[in-house]
Amino acid sequence: MDEPNAIYLDYAASTPCDERVIAAMLPYFGEEFGNAGNAFHRYGLSARLAVDQARRQAADLIGCLPQEVIWTSGATEANNLAIRGIGSAAVADRGGGKSHMVTAGHEHKSVLASFRVAEDDGWDITFLSPPPSGLVAAAQVENALRGDTAFVSIMAANNEIGTMNEIAAIGSLCRARGIPFHCDATQLVGKHPLDVHAACIDLLSWSAHKMYGPKGVGALFICSDRKWRIKPQLTGGGQEEGMRAGTLNIPGITGFGLACEIARDEMEREAARVWTLRDRLERALVTTIDGATVNGSEVERVANISSITMPLEANHDLVTELNGVACSSGSACLDPSEGPSHVLRAIGLSGKQARNTLRLSLGRWTTAAEIDRAAERIVDTVYRLM
Ligand code: PMP
Repeated sequence: MDEPNAIYLDYAASTPCDERVIAAMLPYFGEEFGNAGNAFHRYGLSARLAVDQARRQAADLIGCLPQEVIWTSGATEANNLAIRGIGSAAVADRGGGKSHMVTAGHEHKSVLASFRVAEDDGWDITFLSPPPSGLVAAAQVENALRGDTAFVSIMAANNEIGTMNEIAAIGSLCRARGIPFHCDATQLVGKHPLDVHAACIDLLSWSAHKMYGPKGVGALFICSDRKWRIKPQLTGGGQEEGMRAGTLNIPGITGFGLACEIARDEMEREAARVWTLRDRLERALVTTIDGATVNGSEVERVANISSITMPLEANHDLVTELNGVACSSGSACLDPSEGPSHVLRAIGLSGKQARNTLRLSLGRWTTAAEIDRAAERIVDTVYRLM
């Protein structure tokens, strides 16, 4: 198990909340407790203004209009709303006729599970197999498209190996065919610049707790210039233009908004710093441990994630053997009873290799001294197990 002061290298699982974000949220847990739906008195109006500001901040980060942002409880819900919402609306619009959708086998579980629901409802789903680079090319998507393809969902950056897909090329391909394109950009937004309209993205999911905001709040961008429908998955009050019912989480949304503004101002500098640290860590591990390999493309990658497989003979659960470094082998959303990571298996690793893999993810407060200490700890552990 970890030591209490373990070096935190699990930013892809969740980031600490930025102090500035915590400070901005605090009033909305206390005196500013109003419901944004009741803006005819001071309390509700204050909440409504906070939500409006956050919507502008979120929209500015991804280059859309504020009214194109729908608040959710996180990226899991945003993915469900996009995939199941499009699926169920398309079925209704075609009078019950089902057709075809495309995604990739190494998407996040919330995407894959939503497609499984659609599959159970009679949709035909193509789960593309990624190559060892982890990169889904536009040509691979193009080859999978059919005359009856109703929807495509491909993630921006993979949460386990950090690889970045050709999102803009896939977007323009789908746009040219009139097929709605959804992108789970949870691991990319706030770390790399992204303009949804320039990339021809119709729906985009992201989450506050991956970018120094609070847990339990996320958003779905839904392009307002669209010919297709999306069916709400949570019904009740008419919040979010009827797209997602439920009283808004004002503290969370306020924090998310500020986290977006901070990311917009600081991400370029931050990504360059983190990229250098990530390289330093990888170099230290790969040059010291003979046979250690970095998974996926080393070029088309977000700055902060590294997935490294260690050359161990036995079937170790490497993360549990490693003291003093808080990291993971794969996604925090995986059920350990399901076996090793579906992402690593999808790019061709064996079950043993997947278990002997560390996902190391860095962030805003990672230091060079921490990287050097973490590298030492990891090397010692791997040597002990060899
Ligand atoms: N998609 C990706 C790529 C993720 O990394 C995560 C978080 N592990 C999610 C979706 C789910 O996000 P949330 O925790 O906000 O539901």
